[in-house]
Amino acid sequence: MAPVTDVSASRTRIGVLGGTFDPIHHGHLAAASEVCAALRLDQVLIVPTAVQPFKRDSVSASKEHRVAMCEKAVRNDARFEVSTVDIDRGGVTYTVDTLRDLKAQYPSADFFFITGADSLARLSEWKDAEQLGELAQFVGVTRAGHSFPQLETTHRVVEAPSLAISSTDIRRRVRAGVPIRYLMPASVVDYISKHELYLGGLDD
Ligand code: ATP
Ligand code: MG
Repeated sequence: MAPVTDVSASRTRIGVLGGTFDPIHHGHLAAASEVCAALRLDQVLIVPTAVQPFKRDSVSASKEHRVAMCEKAVRNDARFEVSTVDIDRGGVTYTVDTLRDLKAQYPSADFFFITGADSLARLSEWKDAEQLGELAQFVGVTRAGHSFPQLETTHRVVEAPSLAISSTDIRRRVRAGVPIRYLMPASVVDYISKHELYLGGLDD
């Protein structure tokens, strides 16, 4: 008789955290880490968007800078990797395309799309929203200052450490000359200052 094998045990479990990462900060990393542990994921892909549909006017660092900062932020954590799948495809980034491309790249993986409470509240507005559940399980993470929407589509909610950090606030701080150290890895702080990012911009 053939031995009984647990097929699910052999499939890689990959978390996907999409975002503009303009810049990446400890709120992103803590949320990714928490979901990784809670769902026993093998890996979390940090996926910077090309053009985000809801914020076409506000991205203020180039895609090259955003990717470089993500690479620096994940360097010391073997669970995290940066994927440029959205930037390589170009144009407006829709999660349905992200997940389809990642499925083609990792055919034997199960995907868990990680979304903070604020983004999850707009899930129904996402392109091909009804197909998303077939491509990945959606995992909500709590976010300081944002209440959690009640959604049937969410597979699971993970409580992330409550870090009231946002990229918008970081960009404002840089412009105002207020410290940003400790809100993100030191390597990212150094990168921002070396390349003089966020000194001008559109957020105000
Ligand atoms: P911005 O202020 O420019 O919108 P952001 O801080 O919201 O930046 P994004 O790149 O928009 O960062 O977020 C990517 C993903 O990470 C989203 O799903 C968002 O909800 C989640 N996220 C961002 N910051 C936190 C945080 N502090 N805690 C939990 N989730 C977060
Ligand atoms: Mg955001």
